[in-house]
Amino acid sequence: MAKQDLVIIGGGPGGYVGAIRASRLGLSVTLVERERQLGGTCLLRGCIPTKALLHSADLLQEMRGADAHGIRAEGITVDFPGIMRNKKKVVDRSAAGVRYLMKKNGVEVVNGTARIDGPGSVSVSLPDQEEVCLEAREVLIATGSVPRGVPGIEPDGRHILTSNEMLELKEIPPSLLVLGGGAVGVEFASVFSRLGSVVTIVELLPRLLPFEDEEISDAFAKALGKRGIRTYCGTRMGRVTATEDGVVCAVEDGDGGTKNLSASMLLSAVGRAPFTEGLGAVKAGVCLDDRGFVKVDDHYRTTVPGIRAIGDVIDTPALAHVASAEAIAAVEHIAGAETHPVDYATTPSCTYADPEVASVGLTEAAARDAGHEVSVGRFPFSASGKARILGATDGFVKIVAGKPHGEVLGVHIMGPHATELIAEAGILLRTECTAEEIVRTMHPHPTLSEAIQEAAHGVDGNPLHI
Ligand code: FAD
Repeated sequence: MAKQDLVIIGGGPGGYVGAIRASRLGLSVTLVERERQLGGTCLLRGCIPTKALLHSADLLQEMRGADAHGIRAEGITVDFPGIMRNKKKVVDRSAAGVRYLMKKNGVEVVNGTARIDGPGSVSVSLPDQEEVCLEAREVLIATGSVPRGVPGIEPDGRHILTSNEMLELKEIPPSLLVLGGGAVGVEFASVFSRLGSVVTIVELLPRLLPFEDEEISDAFAKALGKRGIRTYCGTRMGRVTATEDGVVCAVEDGDGGTKNLSASMLLSAVGRAPFTEGLGAVKAGVCLDDRGFVKVDDHYRTTVPGIRAIGDVIDTPALAHVASAEAIAAVEHIAGAETHPVDYATTPSCTYADPEVASVGLTEAAARDAGHEVSVGRFPFSASGKARILGATDGFVKIVAGKPHGEVLGVHIMGPHATELIAEAGILLRTECTAEEIVRTMHPHPTLSEAIQEAAHGVDGNPLHI
């Protein structure tokens, strides 16, 4: 194969988006992916399949609540294999879409496992055991991450699972214990609780969604409680014993109290670990930090000239949109094109549970810690006409603004379609918008977006509809 401008290792939202951008900038690109399908964790075992399951659970919930809207729906049943078939269909179509995009953009795709032999040199083991050597001016590592292990809690594919195996379940577990109250843990809790499992979440830190604004975390925990999900925060999971029909887990609260929790299944969802196994990066001179992340500079250059890294394999927020943004910035720099650094301060964070949670910018506590004098505006969805129409009035919008100018420092939302609403908030931060400017921007009525405008009114203590 002729020497390429760029070889990208990994076909997730970092790698494949980087490949498209690079090709459009005129670079010759080869993308290497070890899986048969393109799309990476996000598309095959992450964002897309989990949201397909969440949508099925949302639909079930809506149908069960249809009576309140004057629609009588009887005999609603759950066809779990059907839910999983639909999830697979969405995944397969999306993966085929990525394959099409590679073709359309002239990106050469090699299906195999890549190993870096040195700067500009990559060997790929093909599925038939053959090996091909690729040469390139630049190599981009986009190998992503895998579920983080917990000592003493070994996934067995039967009673102790990671998110990977959860997505291949054949039956709804009667009861589910979730270790980890972050986005992945609470999303699965939200799916299976609505499908009928008795769900319990155990989180070591003092609150669920520990990186969200404290008020949002507290409201979210209450909302889960209302939905019948038990949560134990500030609780350490100790010994886990697999039994014939499930697991028994010893848990220890912060005050030294212990108890046993049992369930038919345990999901270990304690985060992700960067994946560089078998990549040969370290041998080629690429330095990792003490947690295994590839070290990079502002242009995603590793310690070896000609080798860069982006996405979950580096120590930045493990999110698909972050991986894509980094890939774009990295390949623009490689191509010598105009580029802008990734603005991590405006990274949206989303949890697609019921209720949804989304945020961008500083929490109230972080804003105060950073020395800001802050003013906070809140607006509850219970006062929103559109939320009442939807029958989804749990939650609120909270805007953290600086004093005296009212510049928006953070927006935090729990409630219906929070994950869609947050995109507006990202632009507010990016353009250094003030609460006054939000107030003066007409928001369509009746929409959920009015809650953002109302919360902005609240920054001056003047919401209209409460
Ligand atoms: P990945 O998507 O992990 O892709 C890396 C690819 O590299 C893989 O396909 C892998 O097979 C390949 N690879 C690795 N080594 C080699 C090699 N040596 N040779 C060839 N190929 C190799 N993020 C969001 O933004 N929104 C969400 O809603 C969301 N939901 C999630 C739900 C779950 C259950 C999980 C687990 C994650 C979720 N994420 C979500 C996180 C998101 O999936 C990741 O942040 C994102 O996929 C990272 O992209 P990436 O390109 O860096 O790596």
